[in-house]
Amino acid sequence: MTRIVYVNGEYLPDTEAKISIFDRGFLMADAVYEVTSVLDGKLLDYAGHESRLARSLDELGMANPVTKEELLAIHRELVSRNGVGNGLVYLQITRGSAGDRSFVFPDPATTPSGIVLFTQKVDDLDFPPAAKTGIKVIAFDDLRWGRRDIKTVQLLWPSMAKMAAKKAGCDDAFFVQDGMVTEGSASNAYIVKGNRIITRPLSNDILHGITRATLLKYAAEAQFEIEERAFTIAEAQAADEAFVTGASTFVMPVVEVDGAKVGSGTPGPVATRLRELYIEEAKKAAI
Ligand code: PMP
Repeated sequence: MTRIVYVNGEYLPDTEAKISIFDRGFLMADAVYEVTSVLDGKLLDYAGHESRLARSLDELGMANPVTKEELLAIHRELVSRNGVGNGLVYLQITRGSAGDRSFVFPDPATTPSGIVLFTQKVDDLDFPPAAKTGIKVIAFDDLRWGRRDIKTVQLLWPSMAKMAAKKAGCDDAFFVQDGMVTEGSASNAYIVKGNRIITRPLSNDILHGITRATLLKYAAEAQFEIEERAFTIAEAQAADEAFVTGASTFVMPVVEVDGAKVGSGTPGPVATRLRELYIEEAKKAAI
């Protein structure tokens, strides 16, 4: 089924959308992205995604080709034109195409950034089967670059982690660096001990998850204790519960870590409660 997508100022059927083969996103992964969830036709945590996008662009010295107001209007227009009830809006901004390949950044005055947005429908986004069963993760060496706080489209290592997980009969991976878990392949990682939620503090080692920020706020308001520190795979295996967060998964229970069951091996009460809490509150604040 064709979708209406947005490419550099135009709304087009996806079959007619084109970008240059010289686009630096394509040649160099010189591009940043965001994924915003849609529930009941409304955007979740939009302000967070917008401000992280601005930060990613700033860190890379890349200009946003559209204004804040235009960006929100494009999101809404695509959701509406494609009749998205539940799903996602993917947005990518690249350093554009200078009509040649070079490591040197082109002059932004003559080579404007490129922008692409498209939607994906996910009917069961709020109630996917995995949220009931929980997911299984493997431990996987974190061999990504050192600026994981910038949301770039360099996603080859996370894809390789995901494929290794699938090959091992699991769903995802916990990246490990210097013996400590950094994050999931496309999520932030947490363990639970009693009433305490433990997650790695923000740094260049992890993506500053928008769902993470919102969830920690809701969790603190709901009287959970929050400890921001790194943890090991062994600690995750011995924890009461584990879970991951991300814009498209919200709060997803992790029931097995590198071959060992976590707690009872089924989604625990804290992850289950946090998932409900996040969806309930984020929906109320959706725009
Ligand atoms: N870490 C990584 C590496 C990710 O790719 C993602 C999802 N894009 C996250 C964390 C979660 O971030 P968010 O909650 O903003 O989706």
